[in-house]
Amino acid sequence: MFSEKHMLKGKTALVTGSTSGIGLGIALQLARQGAHIMLNGFGDVDGAKAAVAALGGRVSFHGADMSKPAEIEAMVRACEAEFGAVDILVNNAGIQHVAKIEDFPVDRWDAIIAINLSSAFHSTRAALPGMKARNWGRVINIASTHGLVASAEKSAYVAAKHGIVGFTKAAALECATTGVTHNAICPGWVLTPLVQKQVDARAAAAGISNDEAKRQLLAEKQPSLQFTTPEQLGELAVFLCSSAADNVRGQAWAMDGGWTAQ
Ligand code: NAD
Repeated sequence: MFSEKHMLKGKTALVTGSTSGIGLGIALQLARQGAHIMLNGFGDVDGAKAAVAALGGRVSFHGADMSKPAEIEAMVRACEAEFGAVDILVNNAGIQHVAKIEDFPVDRWDAIIAINLSSAFHSTRAALPGMKARNWGRVINIASTHGLVASAEKSAYVAAKHGIVGFTKAAALECATTGVTHNAICPGWVLTPLVQKQVDARAAAAGISNDEAKRQLLAEKQPSLQFTTPEQLGELAVFLCSSAADNVRGQAWAMDGGWTAQ
């Protein structure tokens, strides 16, 4: 059951981009349910490891660059070698760039498509044979409300996030008669380092305070006027890993304060 404590005991979760923000929030909620965790990403690796370890389970780290297919495959193999399996794969690593199409740097377009979209194909491709052999697996792709609706000046991000929602549906159908499910989560605004950069840029450009910039972001795109939290997204991931969600396949779950309901 979803509410059962330690319902993921004995399972291993590989969470990409989990040194901060949403990925770390999801890793922590999965660890609270007893899962072993393999972390990935850049930045405060030791801090993220310590936070997960404090919950009592096993934790490991692999520094694969999610823009590099060979490194992604090596990370999946390392997780299988260390823990015996990748039971839960959370494709979360992501970057963002805001610019008009005609000014969009080509290398930023390529990096956003590689890290936000193609990485999920490479990790899923590497992890699926093991999941199918065990007839149990959960693939959770962190898309965005931008996988459902668009915003101007975020063309690469919108394309990648729509792409990952489509990939989620296609993969779910391919695995429909197996114990492997694929779903996407589409967060609205979450106050992570990625969004903090946008808050800072808005505050600087408009000469307003940080708090006013946050208020404006919420007023524009979050009818509840509340940020979604990494913990709430982690709870949704736990639900998708539960037996209650065995038949939930190929869906895009928005948690966006009502943004895409408008
Ligand atoms: P974040 O910047 O806090 O975290 C991004 C993570 O990805 C970090 O751990 C970073 O080290 C890692 N990463 C970046 N490039 C990488 C690479 N090449 N290889 C390996 N790891 C890499 O951002 P976040 O807000 O927590 O975003 C996480 C995911 O959620 C992203 O896919 C993002 O698009 C999505 N998302 C975020 C929001 C939001 O409001 N914050 C909303 C919708 C969707």
